[in-house]
Amino acid sequence: MHPFAYARARDAGQASQLAREPGSEIIAGGTDMMQLLKDDVRRPRRLVDITQLPWRAIEVSPAGLRLGALARMSDVADDPRVREQYPVVTEALLASASPQVRNMATIGGNLLQRTRCVYFRDHDTSCNKREPGSGCAALQGENRLHAVLGGSDHCVATHPSDLAVALVALDAVVVVHRADGERRVALEQFHLLPGDTPEHETVLEPGDIIAAIEVPAAAAARRSHYRKVRDRASFEFALASAAVALDINGGTIREARIALGGVGTKPWRARDAEAALAGGPADRARFQAAAARALAGARPLAQNAFKIELAQRALVRALTTVSKGA
Ligand code: SF4
Repeated sequence: MHPFAYARARDAGQASQLAREPGSEIIAGGTDMMQLLKDDVRRPRRLVDITQLPWRAIEVSPAGLRLGALARMSDVADDPRVREQYPVVTEALLASASPQVRNMATIGGNLLQRTRCVYFRDHDTSCNKREPGSGCAALQGENRLHAVLGGSDHCVATHPSDLAVALVALDAVVVVHRADGERRVALEQFHLLPGDTPEHETVLEPGDIIAAIEVPAAAAARRSHYRKVRDRASFEFALASAAVALDINGGTIREARIALGGVGTKPWRARDAEAALAGGPADRARFQAAAARALAGARPLAQNAFKIELAQRALVRALTTVSKGA
């Protein structure tokens, strides 16, 4: 691990100012950062600790849900209001990591965690994300866990967050604090496709810090669900996952929200699949047609074609579960 300086920000203004300086990186829960420091993947000159900032509140109102960026994953998962009104959020959190990690990790940090691609965390291999221009070892190497949607010739790593998938399905907005005020970014646009610059993962600029996540109220949110398929039952990242939310009236789907995880280079909103469901009956044939639409653009690698079928099955299962009793 390389040596680095440490500064604890006393307020948001100071945090932003410190974070703008070259070589500075933010730390909060630190669950991903500590691994990256130990693996020598990140070499900050200075870590800016933002844990003293007043960004921990979990607020539920008629307008929606607002999660402070420093709220712990476990605190949000345990909140009965979130569980009742936004079950997909609770389920995605409980499917993430381990209880110990959830007790430390923050909501903002969850959205910014780095990929689990093994080559990204191995200095003896080529990785465009870790070292731009060095190549991508996954393209011809072990790529069973990699993306089938949104990849490029430069990177095919999946985004690891379960929570981000649930929040993208719910049209969440990221509130970004910066030196000259705040800006809001739709979470669907927050993460970037790798293209030819996979080292750029989000729209954040130097000095930008996630302050909160806002989820607008929606009828579909209460009838929502997260289905995750993985190699083992806990403490494992998704092979494929589906976050769904349906507004159903009299057996007809008024609105559908769908996002996929484990298969995309970013949390993957499946708007074609949503359009295939809206206005029709909530039945299995329609769910299967929507699932086929969701994966229509998939481009498998040598070892991960199975993810296309797996993601479709996860999505059909999630839609079937959430439509029960409608
Ligand atoms: Fe690096 Fe992306 Fe290739 Fe993995 S898939 S080795 S993260 S460039």
